[in-house]
Amino acid sequence: MADSPTVELHRHFEAGLLPETIARLAARHGVTEARTRAGQVVEGVDPQDPASIRAYYASVAAGFGLPDGFTRFHQSFGLPLSVLRALDDLEQAACDQVAWCAAHGSLHTELRGSPFTYQEQVGGSIDEIAAALVAGVDRAWREHGASGTFILAFSRQKGLAPADAPLAARQAEPVARLAASLHRADRPVGLDLAGFPEAPWPPRLFKAALAPAREAGVPLTVHAGEQGRFPDFAGAPAALVVEAVEDLSARRIGHGTALVSSASARALVRDRGVGVECCPVSNDRMGFVPVARHPLPLLLADGLAVSLSTDDPLMFGPFTVAETFDEIARPLGLGDEAALALAVNGIETAFVSDERRATLRHRLRALAAGNDEGS
Ligand SMILES: [Zn+2]
Repeated sequence: MADSPTVELHRHFEAGLLPETIARLAARHGVTEARTRAGQVVEGVDPQDPASIRAYYASVAAGFGLPDGFTRFHQSFGLPLSVLRALDDLEQAACDQVAWCAAHGSLHTELRGSPFTYQEQVGGSIDEIAAALVAGVDRAWREHGASGTFILAFSRQKGLAPADAPLAARQAEPVARLAASLHRADRPVGLDLAGFPEAPWPPRLFKAALAPAREAGVPLTVHAGEQGRFPDFAGAPAALVVEAVEDLSARRIGHGTALVSSASARALVRDRGVGVECCPVSNDRMGFVPVARHPLPLLLADGLAVSLSTDDPLMFGPFTVAETFDEIARPLGLGDEAALALAVNGIETAFVSDERRATLRHRLRALAAGNDEGS
């Protein structure tokens, strides 16, 4: 697998920063203490030392099984967010991350993140923040030939509120409008409905708020069918995936593990050509489904456009799709053919222009042919 090309469609920007990047930004801004999302100091972590940052996240990953595991995970986003303090941090870090992923085998990498979340630290409007992130991804292509797309995200639990509430409490519509304003057919900008918990905020509730993005042709992905647990996934059933497709015209589904429990939902997703962004290591670490029980092979065998991603590599361990594949290949019985299928599906469901997709297909074919010759 080590030199097989990959494609990554589901990678949260701040959770995909390398410890070295976090340390460099911390030094730039004189950040000397690691803090949680809630602002508590995390004792014993030096935010300017990559080894110390790695040790912190290893302890977060090791603690997922504990009663406070999810809280520690959620709070651990505080460190990367605390060092992203300026618009040029966002642009540079987005550019660097896409280029780094490309240098580690990813033919195309889609980063996602919430402009409202970054606004807590970065001076600037959500428009300026989104423009900086998109500019970073554009620069990765221009300067490094590294293909990427930025997906603007919002949290479902902060998505909807009455019109007199602050914008940050009703993010769905402003982020949808922002995506619509930045999206171009020759350089798409995506939109992501994310956040916890899924069940109280079903996709259908967002139909009106996301209309501006739908009308502008912005491609949408929805975190759906993720947060239920093996074996029945009842806590976030496949019906949520169906809603995302039917009510919101989602082009891709984030996770979608619950699809294993519904043949009719799988048929809908397959027949509409909706992509499924599988992140088995994430689902395992969060306690939803062990890697060995992950439905990825079944979804692939059923003809769904499944791709493979890391989700939050800083917190979960494997930093690249290649490393993720190496972790799941043996327990799930996946070989070279599956690795290639995941990359092909990634290209076919990427949020890119027709021209870029043709370029990516060409690059994949050339690399696959080279690998065959070499073996
Ligand atoms: Zn995610």
